[in-house]
Amino acid sequence: MRILITDKVPESLLSAFKERGYNFDYIPDIEKGELLKIVSKYEILIVRGRTRVDRKLINEATNLKAVIRFGVGLDNIDLDLCKEKGINVYNTPRAFTEAVAELTLSLILGLLRNIGFAHYSICAGEWRKKELYGYELLDKNVAVIGFGRIGRRVAELLKPFKARIIVYDIIKFGEELLKQYTAVQVDSLVNAVKDADIVTIHVPLTKETRNMFSYDIFRSMTRKPFLINTSRGEVVDYDALLYALDHGYIRGYATDVYHIEPFYDERLTKRRNVLLTPHIGSQTYEAGERAVEETIEIVEKIFKNIEGV
Ligand code: NAD
Repeated sequence: MRILITDKVPESLLSAFKERGYNFDYIPDIEKGELLKIVSKYEILIVRGRTRVDRKLINEATNLKAVIRFGVGLDNIDLDLCKEKGINVYNTPRAFTEAVAELTLSLILGLLRNIGFAHYSICAGEWRKKELYGYELLDKNVAVIGFGRIGRRVAELLKPFKARIIVYDIIKFGEELLKQYTAVQVDSLVNAVKDADIVTIHVPLTKETRNMFSYDIFRSMTRKPFLINTSRGEVVDYDALLYALDHGYIRGYATDVYHIEPFYDERLTKRRNVLLTPHIGSQTYEAGERAVEETIEIVEKIFKNIEGV
């Protein structure tokens, strides 16, 4: 059974594989053309978000039995085709929750207090003390869009700030669960954002969530909230976002994720009321180690199943 790892993973995963005597190749940043040539030699493919496990790749991967996404989002993997071909897909969902939730909290606080622009202006030799007024998080209405692992952890981290949590999700949650987070659930995205001071996005990228933050949604944001996105760039319609910033429908935008990565666009980067990080949500040392453990468990499970133990 041969394993191919095509994106950067922690050294400890490689050492663990070596210790167990697994037959694996580690080729991070491999080009697509090269990958297409060699993929048929492998039964297990381990990827992060960079490698696109699309139709072209899957069709070449004639011996593939499993794809492991070292991470959470599965939007770079053609799940339907994998299912059709009997290729099992796994991810490491629990490992990164804390890292992304803590980054979300940092982005919320940083955006409310202009931390990015303040830092940048000092580095540029400017002392802008008088103009840098911000907002407090205490007692604010926070709309959490997508109340899964990360959304709930964000709600938990917001507790000391006595935030009122407004939840929007396709799953209807029971009163008991919502009470734990002092949250209320509403039945539409419009109802979630209209009274929010802060909106934080935690849905996966799917057909339904692509461009979910549209012109109409921005226009319904009556309290001019701050918008934070640590889910996927494509969930926010980029043109509508620029429009919302230009017309003051939102007070500011903080994001870790972009519709095109790597990202640079002065229509966003030149603004004072944005805070941008280069898709680092899952990148803590602790999360990496948890993901290593989850990945080892998955590989062991695959080996057992295939060997019929
Ligand atoms: P999760 O599956 O636990 O939660 C997602 C929630 O979104 C679920 O409750 C689901 O019901 C809800 N949802 C799905 N479709 C919806 C829709 N159309 N409308 C409303 N709600 C909907 O996932 P998670 O672990 O909380 O992760 C959320 C997302 O965060 C991931 O899918 C990934 O894209 C992103 N993520 C980003 C980083 C990063 O580096 N910035 C790291 C990890 C995860």
